[in-house]
Amino acid sequence: MERTLAIIKPDAVERRLAGRIIQRIEEAGFEIRALRRIHLSTKQAEGFYAVHRARPFFASLTAFMASGPAVVLVLEAPDAIKKWRTLMGATDPAKADAGTLRKEFAQSIERNATHGSDAPDTAAVEISYFFAGIDLI
Ligand code: ATP
Ligand code: MG
Repeated sequence: MERTLAIIKPDAVERRLAGRIIQRIEEAGFEIRALRRIHLSTKQAEGFYAVHRARPFFASLTAFMASGPAVVLVLEAPDAIKKWRTLMGATDPAKADAGTLRKEFAQSIERNATHGSDAPDTAAVEISYFFAGIDLI
């Protein structure tokens, strides 16, 4: 079993798509081990996306992530990291495969509906950014 951090980003929560995305998560066979609604501050968004701080889109991305409530989840499944990224689709919805969440729900490369961890080490860091060990027993 593997765990990954998923975020339903503010663009999707604002458009009331969280329920449909959670339904897709459950239908795909993930177990939701933890779930929380959170409105990030700019500082908290900057901390989460610190790996991207040198990128030209960093200020815009972190402002977007702090623009409204998001839903953060810990998903568990065999090969959860890859499985969740496959369900999300490509970062840019214009390049995302049919049937993926970003193809269906994303508005742009920035407002792209969902986040997923990209490797086991980043998943562990990202999960602990939002959830305490006691939340995951
Ligand atoms: P995420 O980390 O959110 O799951 P990802 O791993 O597919 O997405 P990253 O390269 O890690 O993509 O980029 C993080 C986020 O930054 C993207 O999801 C998107 O919201 C935003 N982003 C990425 N590239 C661009 C870009 N060229 N212009 C604007 N925003 C971007
Ligand atoms: Mg990423």
